[in-house]
Amino acid sequence: MAQILKNQGSHRILAIMAGIGGENSLQLIELAGRTSYQSRAQITNDSAARFVKMLRERGHESVLEHSCMTVEFNNVSRGFTHELVRHRLASFTQESTRYVDGGDFKVVIPPAQDKDEKLVELNLPNGIKLKVSFQDWMDLNEQMYRGLRKAGWIRQDARQVLPNGIKAQIVVTANFREWRHIFKVRTAPDAHWEIRQVMKNLLEDLKKKIPIIFDDL
Ligand SMILES: Cc1cc2nc3c(=O)[nH]c(=O)nc-3n(C[C@H](O)[C@H](O)[C@H](O)COP(=O)(O)OP(=O)(O)OC[C@H]3O[C@@H](n4cnc5c(N)ncnc54)[C@H](O)[C@@H]3O)c2cc1C
Repeated sequence: MAQILKNQGSHRILAIMAGIGGENSLQLIELAGRTSYQSRAQITNDSAARFVKMLRERGHESVLEHSCMTVEFNNVSRGFTHELVRHRLASFTQESTRYVDGGDFKVVIPPAQDKDEKLVELNLPNGIKLKVSFQDWMDLNEQMYRGLRKAGWIRQDARQVLPNGIKAQIVVTANFREWRHIFKVRTAPDAHWEIRQVMKNLLEDLKKKIPIIFDDL
């Protein structure tokens, strides 16, 4: 039976780039940024946050590109990952539907919808009518996918019947400037609910971890 995922999209921060001299990401950005003013002598234990905030407020966002972050997203849909990979300045590795089987066949449902409500009447052969729910349709979908695999279709062929809501995993690496751009467009009111919710959660997390980079968003 297909497993329906509701509000289960999540993130896991895998890495935030720091300096090999022990600098954290803000100190790394400060080190790079002060190249411009030749003012590294002014670096103190607590100068990085002030310096990076100044850069951000003046719009010198290119300096924020010196540090980057890698994030894994789980229990999101293929539709989510398709939107994310449009961000050309990021790097991606995504669960393959060519090489990985439908597995446990998890599917993401919109949070406002009821997976069991029999909303749609299907017209089947011989005049048979059958009312089905989202859950029913995904169960049929799973049967079709597994049936094609059993009949000899290889994964990359059978995947043609997978739904857009099928669960996916993706790892994304981008510099902080690009992450800021992703948050701006993907947490906006007109963004799709799934990517919006997951990105809002990640942004809230980051506001605690590295507020200077993200707390104006
Ligand atoms: C609400 C919403 C609805 C959308 N609807 C659709 C839709 O209906 N159809 C559709 O196809 N897409 C749609 N998209 C995707 C959208 O068009 C972009 O492809 C996606 O948001 C990536 O944005 P971007 O190009 O700004 O960012 P990125 O690719 O992340 O690039 C970041 C920035 O780098 C610069 N940049 C990157 N590449 C270039 C380049 N080649 N030349 C010059 N500057 C560059 C730009 O300043 C860009 O903003 C939608 C996106 C959103 C948020």
